[in-house]
Amino acid sequence: MSAPAIGGVQVPRGNGDVLRLPRGASLSDFAEKINAEPASLVTVLFHLGEMVTATQSVNEETLQLLGVELNYTIQVVSPEDEDRELLESFDLTFGEDEGEDEHLVARPPVVTVMGHVDHGKTRLLDAIRKTNVMGDEAGGITQHIGAYQVHVEHDGLDRAITFIDTPGHEAFTAMRARGAATTDIVVLVVAADDGVMPQTIEALNHAHAAEVPIVVAVNKIDKEDANPAKVRQQLTEYGLVAEEYGGDTLFVDVSARSNINIDGLLEGVLLTADAALDLRANPDQDAQGIVIEARLDRGRGPVASLLVQRGTLNVGDSVVAGDAFGRVRAMLDENGDPVDVAGPSRPVQVLGLTSVPGAGDSFLVVEEDRIARQIADRRSARERNAQLASSRRRISLDDLDKALAAGEVQDLNLIIKGDVSGSVEALEDALLAIDIGEDKDEVSLRVISRGVGAITENDINLAIASDAVVIGFNVRPEGKAREAADREGVDIRYYTVIYQAIEEIEAALKGMLKPEFEEVQLGTAEVREVFRVPRIGNIAGSMVRTGLIRRNSKARLVRDGTVVADNLTVESLKRFKDDATEVREGFECGIGLGSYNDIKIDDVVETYELREKPRA
Ligand code: GDP
Repeated sequence: MSAPAIGGVQVPRGNGDVLRLPRGASLSDFAEKINAEPASLVTVLFHLGEMVTATQSVNEETLQLLGVELNYTIQVVSPEDEDRELLESFDLTFGEDEGEDEHLVARPPVVTVMGHVDHGKTRLLDAIRKTNVMGDEAGGITQHIGAYQVHVEHDGLDRAITFIDTPGHEAFTAMRARGAATTDIVVLVVAADDGVMPQTIEALNHAHAAEVPIVVAVNKIDKEDANPAKVRQQLTEYGLVAEEYGGDTLFVDVSARSNINIDGLLEGVLLTADAALDLRANPDQDAQGIVIEARLDRGRGPVASLLVQRGTLNVGDSVVAGDAFGRVRAMLDENGDPVDVAGPSRPVQVLGLTSVPGAGDSFLVVEEDRIARQIADRRSARERNAQLASSRRRISLDDLDKALAAGEVQDLNLIIKGDVSGSVEALEDALLAIDIGEDKDEVSLRVISRGVGAITENDINLAIASDAVVIGFNVRPEGKAREAADREGVDIRYYTVIYQAIEEIEAALKGMLKPEFEEVQLGTAEVREVFRVPRIGNIAGSMVRTGLIRRNSKARLVRDGTVVADNLTVESLKRFKDDATEVREGFECGIGLGSYNDIKIDDVVETYELREKPRA
C-alpha cells in the first residue's frame, strides 16, 4: 500500500477506500484513519500548495483535495449525522414519532413572540400569562422557566397554548441553528404607534426562513397615535396580507398594557394553528424534546427547562440532554407546582441532571442511566473537539500568514458567562455574526470559553492567560474573582440586554481597527495687529470670531479665503500678559504660531483638532 514518495515522504495510499471524517477534522484525524504520520500529510498538502498544521481543523475542500491525492473517497460527516449514528448504535432515534398515524394525538401549538425592541413583546407575554391565572390566583407568582402554557376555551373545548418566554428572534434563531425546531407559530408584535421597524422585518424573515406561520399582534392600540391600519398596509409589502384585505394572515389589535383583546390574540393563534398546521404527536412513547434553557442553581444543581415534543416525561425517567444526563428527580410547572407527567408541548422544569445542557439541545428518555451516560460522554468528547476546531473564527483566512507576520492581526478574545444557557448561546451567536466590515483582515473575534453561572477565578485566570475580556450576562464575579480581575487588570463587562452587549462589542471591535482621524474645527480668529516679539517671533493680536482658540491645537492661516499655511500649531496663547489655555469667541488674544512668522493683518487663524473617527 505504500505510495511513491510525495515530496520525499511515504504516505499510505488508498484504493478509493471510503474515509468518514467529521466536519472540522484535522490532518491528525485523517492520518489516524490511514495509519500515517500526521507530519507526512502536512508535507503532502504543502506540496499541493496549502500550509496547514497537523492539528488545525481544515475545511472540507482541503480534506477532499488530500483524498484525491491519496486516492481515498472522503465523506465528511455532519455533526447531525454523527449524532444520528451515535443514537442508532443504541437503537435510538430522535425526531420522529413512533407508531402509526392512529397513535398521533392533537397537541398544543408552541408560540414564540417576536418583534422590534420596545414594541411590547415582554409586556404581551406578561399579559397573556396573567389572563390565564384563574380567579383568586390573579397576580399570583409565576416562575420563569423559559416557557409557559395557558388554557383558553375555544369552540367549547379547553385548548392549551405554549408560549416560549424568551421573546425575540435571537434565541429563536440560535435554537434553529442547532436544529431545534420548537416553534409552531410566531406572534409578530408591531406597535401601532410606531409601525414596521427594522427588527420587525428581521423577525419576519426569521419566521419565513423557518416556514413558521405568523399571527400579527398590533399592539399599543390604547395609544392616541395608534394607527393599526397603517401596520396592516406596511406589512402587505412583506407578503403579510391581512384577512380583511383578502390575505390569509390574522392581524389582531391588542394592548398589552391595557389588557385589550388578549383573548382575541389567543383565539387567532388557535385559528391559525388549526388552519395551517397539523399539530399531532404520540403521547405514548418515551419522551423527547428540546432544552429551552438551563442553568446551575446553587441549591438545586442543574435546572433545565424542557419542552416535551413527543411522548410523555415522567418523574424517574433516565434522560440524556445534549451532553448532560441524569434521572428526573422532580418536575415543576411555571407556577412552581410539582408535575408528575408532562405530555407533548408541555414545558417543565426538570431537576436531576448531572450537568447543565445547552439551550436547543435535544433531550430523550432512554431505558437506563448507563445508556444516558454513554451517549452524554460521547457527545461531550465530540463537543470538545468541535469547539477546539471552531473556537477560532478568523474573519479572513486570506493572507493570514502575511498579516500575522506584519503584526496586523489582532484578536478580541472573549469569555462569556451568563445566567442561562439560552442567553449565552444567543449572545455568542450574535457576537460571531458581527459584521466587522471592510477591514475584516485586521481583527478576529474569538469566544474562547462560555458557560453558565457566576464569573469564577478560573474564568479570570483564563482571561489573564489569553488576554480576554470577560462578558457577564446577568451574572457577577464570585468570591475572589473580582479581586483577581482588579489586580490583574482583566476587563469584565456586565450586560443585561443582549442588544447592548452586541453594540458595545461591535464598537470595541471597530475601535481595535486602526483609528481613522477626522478634522474638527475648533474656532477662528481674525488678526487685528501683528506684534514683533524679540527672540520669539511674530504674535497675531487677534479677535476670536467663532468657537474658541486652544493652545497646542492645530492651525492654518487663511488670507483672502486662501490657505497660505497649514499644519501649524498654536504654540503660545495669551490673554493680555497671561498665558491662556483657551480663549472663547468675542475675546481678544495673542496667538503665536511657533516659527511661522508670515502673519498679516486681516488674516484668519483657523484652529482644528484631529479626532478619532467613530467607525460606521
Ligand atoms: P419589548 O422590548 O418588545 O419586550 O417591549 P416591552 O414589553 O418592554 O415594552 C416596551 C414599552 O412599551 C414598555 O414601556 C411598555 O410598558 C410599553 N407598552 C407595551 N405594550 C403597551 C401597550 O399595549 N400600550 C402602551 N401604551 N404601552 C405599551
